[in-house]
Amino acid sequence: MELSDRSRVPLTSPEIDLLKTWVRFSFYQAYSGLAVSLSEGSGGTHPVNVRDECCSGDAGETSIVGSDVNYGSAASWARSHGPAKSRQEIVQGMGYALGAIIAHEAAHQFISYTHDPSDGSAYDYRYTFRSAEWFYGQLHWTAPTFGLLGQKLAYWR
Ligand SMILES: [Zn+2]
Repeated sequence: MELSDRSRVPLTSPEIDLLKTWVRFSFYQAYSGLAVSLSEGSGGTHPVNVRDECCSGDAGETSIVGSDVNYGSAASWARSHGPAKSRQEIVQGMGYALGAIIAHEAAHQFISYTHDPSDGSAYDYRYTFRSAEWFYGQLHWTAPTFGLLGQKLAYWR
């Protein structure tokens, strides 16, 4: 894993751990209350593959065989949003955005939903990584999409 296309500075082992912690935090925040679990490796029922580059430069895409998420794109956008940030802040922002795009793409596998074109802080927003909220903000589902997820997925008891 590389921190950004420009610097090509590899993430250290502790940074990879930090990134993965933020991916999990962000993903579980997206599915808060819903019975969805995230596991690393193969064997899951709804595969999401994090790739160095994919998806024609877009943040991610979903087809009938599963989803791809664009790590390289997240790394580039994490540095471009807002004022200069520390390396740790960028790694955290990348993790938050990657967890959110994994949630976004997984939702395409769970339900049929329409992208929201206007709310940059929605998980179902169309342009995801172009919004700083995806890295350093607070995200939420739009009501119609969260309603569909609630109908499709069980709640933790
Ligand atoms: Zn989408």
